[in-house]
Parts: sequence; C-alpha cells; structure tokens
Amino acid sequence: MIFNVEVEAMSREKMKAIQLERLKQTVKRAYENVPFQKASFDKSGIKPEDIQSLEDIQKLPFMKKSDLRENYPFGLFAAEMKDIVRIHGSSGTKGKPTVVGYTKKDIENWSEIVARAICCAGGRPGDVFHNAYGYGLFTGGLGLHYGIEYLGAVAVPVSGGNTSRQITLIQDFQPRGLSATPSYVLNIVEEMKKMGINPRETSVEYGIFGAEPWSEEMREQLEEELNIKAIDIYGLSEVMGPGVSIECWEAQDGLHIAEDHFLAEIIDPKTGELLPYGEEGELVFTSLTKEAFPVIRYRTGDIASLHPETCKCGRTTIRMSRIKGRVDDMLIIRGVNVFPTEIESVLLTFKQLAPHYQVVIEREGALDRFEIHCEITSEYMSQIGNLADSQEIADLSKVISRAMKDMLGVSVVLRVNKPHSIARSEGKAIRIVDNRSKAVTA
Ligand SMILES: [Zn+2]
Repeated sequence: MIFNVEVEAMSREKMKAIQLERLKQTVKRAYENVPFQKASFDKSGIKPEDIQSLEDIQKLPFMKKSDLRENYPFGLFAAEMKDIVRIHGSSGTKGKPTVVGYTKKDIENWSEIVARAICCAGGRPGDVFHNAYGYGLFTGGLGLHYGIEYLGAVAVPVSGGNTSRQITLIQDFQPRGLSATPSYVLNIVEEMKKMGINPRETSVEYGIFGAEPWSEEMREQLEEELNIKAIDIYGLSEVMGPGVSIECWEAQDGLHIAEDHFLAEIIDPKTGELLPYGEEGELVFTSLTKEAFPVIRYRTGDIASLHPETCKCGRTTIRMSRIKGRVDDMLIIRGVNVFPTEIESVLLTFKQLAPHYQVVIEREGALDRFEIHCEITSEYMSQIGNLADSQEIADLSKVISRAMKDMLGVSVVLRVNKPHSIARSEGKAIRIVDNRSKAVTA
C-alpha cells in the first residue's frame, strides 16, 4: 500500500519542479530569518535569487553539526518561539546536545512522512504497533509515535528498556509492527529465548529498525530469528528525525527518500565535490518544507550512495543505499579504511557466533592495536563444553580471522569470548571502544 500515491509515485519531472520551488522558498526563509545563514551566504557571495535551478544548490555553503553547537540553543531557528511547538535534541556524547525545533506545520508534515514510511514497510491502518524507540529529546520515539497515529494505527508507546515487560506486552497486545534499534531487538530475542518463548511465533510481521548502521547479514539474522520482514529506516534530528527515508516491503533494496521534503546529494567527504549517482560518499540533505529549522546542505557524516531508478514497488522516489557507516566511525587500520558494518557482515556469517561484537582500539607503543571481540552462542558453548584450550575454538578463530582479512584487506586480532560477555544495548549499540585517549592521559 502506498500512503500518498500522488507524491510517492510522481513523475521525476514533476518532483524536480516541486523541489525547485520549495528550495527557493527554503533558501529565502533561511536567509531572511537566520543571521548565521545570512552571514554564511554573504561570505560565499550568494543571494537567494541566485538559485534558479536544482543544480544551483552547489553554489550554497554546507552546514555542519558544529554550526548547531555554535548556535546553541535556538540560534538557527527561522521561526519565532511563539510559533515553535516542540524541541528535540540529539543524544550528543560530547558536551551540549544539538537542538532542533518544529512548528505545528512541521510536526504535521513529519507525521505524514512517517505514516508514509510505515506503509512503505508493510504497515497499514488498524495495526497495533509496538514502538520501542526511546521517548524524549531523541526523535525516535515521538517521531514514530505521531506517524503511527497519523496512519490510523494503534501506537503502543513502550519506549526502550525493561525488556521482560516489552515481551509481555508483545505477547498480550499482539502487535503487527515493531520498531527499535537493531541491537536492542537482538536483546529482546535473547530474552524471549530465556523466557522459553519462540521469537518466530509472535504476532509481529514487520520491524522498522534504525538509528544505528546495520548490515545485510544482520537483516537476515533478524528476519530468521523473528520470522518477520526487517526494514531499514533512516533519519536524523537535524534534518527531521526518523522517516527521511525507508526501505519498502516489496524490494528491500535501498531506502526511498521523502523527496518532496528532503533534497539529497552525495559528496566527496574530503573535497566537498558532488558525486554522480551510484557512487559512495557523504550524504548531504537540504530540507524543503521545514519552517522552524531549515537546513541547507547539511553534512550528515553518513556514508551512502543514491539510486534514481524506479522501484518495483511502484514508488518513483530516489533511493539511498543502507548507511555503510559514519565518516567519524571509519577506522583506519594500517592505512586501510574499515567500517564496523563490514566487520559485522563477516562475523554474522558464522553460525557459532552470537550477533554481538565490539572493536577495541588500544595504543601499543607508537602503534594502534585493533581487537575484535566476539562471542559464541550458548548452543555452541554447550556443544563444545569448554572454551579454554578448545581445539575447535582455535580452529574457528583461524577461519574467522582469514575471512576477516579477505573482507577488510588487513589482519586484526580476534578474541572469541564465552556467551553474554559483550555488554548488551538498550538503545544504540557501542561498537567501538577507543582506549587510545585514556592511555595518553593515564
Ligand atoms: Zn520500493
């Protein structure tokens, strides 16, 4: 089911015309209402009237996350506080959060965008929907929530945490839809097994998972464990929140972008140059309808590619690839670029391993030492009996290390641990533990 056929299956020409019209309005609004934007335009020698085609967007300066921090809290708002109805913020790990605002119209648009997204994932009006995204400043919980209601489905606002209660509610309320971070879903699956519940036998038919990069192998695992369709959703608070793009139930091949609201570009993260369709680079978004917090060429830090071909689901909107990783999370191991999702895709091909892992980086003299910590499943543990001095584990480690080297092009230190030795997530998983800065201060 396509929620808004008129827009989602619109001709490319018509979509581009709408985008251009809205781009002009957004640029004008930002220039006239946000001192930071005016200064930034002036510095580049650009006036809003200079934007006459979609290609002209390349004349405009980029926005970065640091611009949000420097204008904390409300400096980038393009609407008066009397017209703002909601604030959200990012879960910033360093210092102050980044703050964004929404007018009533922004919330309406966002709700419709998320309703479209849920339909795209296989949802429909009347579904009971278990929303295990965190509620609060984070956009995940409330973002999904308003979309569920807009669709005419039943929102179950569970939020994150308290896993055994989540399972009771899934058993009792019989949801068709489920949303959470993929790492938290794994946590729920594990807990279900402990409680003697078969995760394949719940009422859930589709899961909308996001807020952290995950691999195709993780999808296969989640679909197998839960007997569902696992759908990737993308979004970030700076641009709007969840729903900026989502995969469709029919193809699960790239995430459809809500292009009448967001204009996407892919750039070379080093030079800032625009890259052609199909090429991998940093994802950049310009909002086209936002009143309170317009963003112009916002550099997301996420690595992906764009694909304009019409999808078999009938939607004509451009698709982005799954997020391969964050520019910031890219590990450089002896000169080779490695993303945690690539490590994940190797580990998950081994049935003896549980889908939990961490990359630990230590400073060893002048060199960085990369260790990949993984753990075996409880089933495998009971087969082999003992981890220490096990020939089977030694053999397994060798095979995994070889596969890892083939995939990454660099050898890493592998640590195979006993079941449940890696910390479980109740939200976003911590995949990288960097101990290098600690070593310097110690
Ligand atoms: Zn599609």
